Amino acid sequence: MSLQNCIIQVTGIVQGVGFRPFVYNLALQKSLTGWVRNTSHGVDIEISGETSQIEQFTAHLKQFPPPLAQIHNLSISFTPYNPYSKFEIYFSRDSETDFLPISPDISICKDCAKELFDPINQRYRYPFINCTNCGPRFTITNHIPYDRPNTSMVNFQMCEFCEKEYHDPVNRRFHAQPIACPNCGPKVWFEANGVTLGEKEKAIQIARQWLKDGKILAIKGLGGFHLACDAQNKTAIDTLRQRKNRSDKPFALMAFDIATIKKYCEISDVAETLLTSSQSPIVLLKPKPISGVLLNLCAPHQNHLGFFLPYTPLHLLLLEPENEIPEIWVMTSANMSEEPIAYQNEQAIDQLGILADGYLMHDRPITMRIDDSVFSVIDNLPYPIRRARGFAPNPVLLPFDTSPILGTGALLKNTFCLSRDRYAFVSHYIGDLENFETLQSYQSAINHYENLFRIKPNVIACDMHPDYLSTRYAYDRHAQEKIPFIEVQHHHAHIAANMAENQWDSKESVIGLSYDGTGFGPDGNIWGGEILIASYQSFERRFQFNYVTMPGGDLAIKFPARMAISHLISAGIELESCLPPINFLTSHELEIIQHQINNGINAPMTSSIGRLFDAVSSLIGQRHIINYEGQAAIELEAIADEKEFNTYPIEIYRNVINIKSLMKAIVNDLKKGEKPSTISAKFHNTISDVSVQACQIIKIETGIKHVALSGGVWQNKFLTSRTLDKLRQFGFVPLIHQILPPNDSCISLGQVMVALHQNN
Ligand code: ZN
Ligand code: ZN
Ligand code: FE
Repeated sequence: MSLQNCIIQVTGIVQGVGFRPFVYNLALQKSLTGWVRNTSHGVDIEISGETSQIEQFTAHLKQFPPPLAQIHNLSISFTPYNPYSKFEIYFSRDSETDFLPISPDISICKDCAKELFDPINQRYRYPFINCTNCGPRFTITNHIPYDRPNTSMVNFQMCEFCEKEYHDPVNRRFHAQPIACPNCGPKVWFEANGVTLGEKEKAIQIARQWLKDGKILAIKGLGGFHLACDAQNKTAIDTLRQRKNRSDKPFALMAFDIATIKKYCEISDVAETLLTSSQSPIVLLKPKPISGVLLNLCAPHQNHLGFFLPYTPLHLLLLEPENEIPEIWVMTSANMSEEPIAYQNEQAIDQLGILADGYLMHDRPITMRIDDSVFSVIDNLPYPIRRARGFAPNPVLLPFDTSPILGTGALLKNTFCLSRDRYAFVSHYIGDLENFETLQSYQSAINHYENLFRIKPNVIACDMHPDYLSTRYAYDRHAQEKIPFIEVQHHHAHIAANMAENQWDSKESVIGLSYDGTGFGPDGNIWGGEILIASYQSFERRFQFNYVTMPGGDLAIKFPARMAISHLISAGIELESCLPPINFLTSHELEIIQHQINNGINAPMTSSIGRLFDAVSSLIGQRHIINYEGQAAIELEAIADEKEFNTYPIEIYRNVINIKSLMKAIVNDLKKGEKPSTISAKFHNTISDVSVQACQIIKIETGIKHVALSGGVWQNKFLTSRTLDKLRQFGFVPLIHQILPPNDSCISLGQVMVALHQNN
């Protein structure tokens, strides 16, 4: 029998996920003595005992870590035998330079949900029940290491009962930092017009009754406030839309359980796994015919509904199917139009006054506001659309080491990214950096991440667009702190982000299909239909879609009819009044637009595919004016006939994909009275076809067969699925986003990757 000691250092997501109790129990099982401790770089363990038991211990830890833990590295070193009297959990140790990832927030677990509805349980119907396997994490963390005094639970003094569980190594709540019970923890209350109408259980019942009565509620949840109402009450929805000034933009829906969602939507296995995961994102689902009314009210002109399940005990209590409570609730981020989500009690009452009739409040402070995450399913895989709660601040694990770099992101759907070692901490979804409130929330989030993960950037990477607030932020920090900055082309950043996510670790190039709405090009034009040959370091713009003008500049984004006119004129098509956009515009408007195009007044050039989708949407009469971003393209996709596989003619000449013949063919079909659903499908097929054709040309020239798809256009499921099919058919290896969204939320990671390689 040989005896030894062994020191194990674990890095990764190992705090706030029940790691220490797990280690404690494993050590007891194997009759080992020693200690375990959280440090600011992870978890340190020393074990002492028989070599064979030590080996079993480490093998088990590697193979079967606690379910929510993610081990990124585990190092083992043996030392001479020096036994301890028992196995203990030591206090956390913090060292100034270390850092570690922090667990995202975790949806309520099965055990806690069971206790929540168990009348003899101490925490029966307690809206803040949690354990080491579930509950708030990132949204309550002020500092690392993740221990109660460093969270917003610091001011809640544990009662004897909770304290006993907290210190009992075999209890599920052993060292559960947000542990609480009705006697010692946070509480809820309901208020309206400054008057508290009820507390605790009564508050929840008032909220349910008010919602049933058609009122609009502001509900404080995990990462901020939601606005809630009965999703099938037309008056309530109309009121909410009117108050929020949001005429068509879809609302997220919450139902008590998966069975209820199944009544309304088709749920694939992948979608069900996502819905019931510990992250509980909103998942875009295909509605069943029964959902007609719901679709009309909550996602007009769309072909999917966004559903999620209750992810906190409070949500479960609210949606409990009893007393004829509406089974589907709208749960939309509580904010004024495009401002960040409200998350503080007083601020909410200030800001949401005109939106909500009553407030369900609680007194557990939120230290970091965060929106709900959104997923689609493409290619039978989870496909991120918005990455926030449940996912951030999980780092993207990179294929190589980096230096500390800050990527400041783009304009819309902004995120930022901080890198260190093999980690890229891509922030949660911040929003559109177009107003002061969002900018403030962006700046404070950057500070918070820099502190939490102890990253002092030595380079700042930003977009090339000089007017983006994220670019100006980079200029400002350069001016104040002398940190050098690197400007990264938008579409290059898209492809670099995709490569990093897909663990691309070589200097070789890939083909990049970088399709989106807007990105600043080095030639001063607005890019957006770019086929690149790109490595991390550099890119060549091998093909582009032909330039057309954007009459009125940004106005053309809000008015797809303007883009339709531009494309018609560019293709030399006569502006006949039988064409829907011509019919839609007044003759005066049409005159101005023509004047802008012909004289190049306020008419920047663009190769954007986003704008091309807008133009076609208007051209076939689907949408001439939008009231939320991407609406025209989303509606164009929604009507596309999945049984249609034909295409339109389109030409590739030198390095330009020429859309003119495509536009002519669409107009011909229109005049023949072809159905919009057919035209839409043929248009989608054409874009996917010509993209693959261009890839084939590049493959012949260079031998490259990896194709990275990035940019907001790839949120389009129809286009993406068909393009992936065709790419595979022709022997390409497509790379798609799976961690970050393909939209501009991925730009910050790409900026960091490019800056890293250009800086070296
Ligand atoms: Zn739990
Ligand atoms: Zn307690
Ligand atoms: Fe983009």
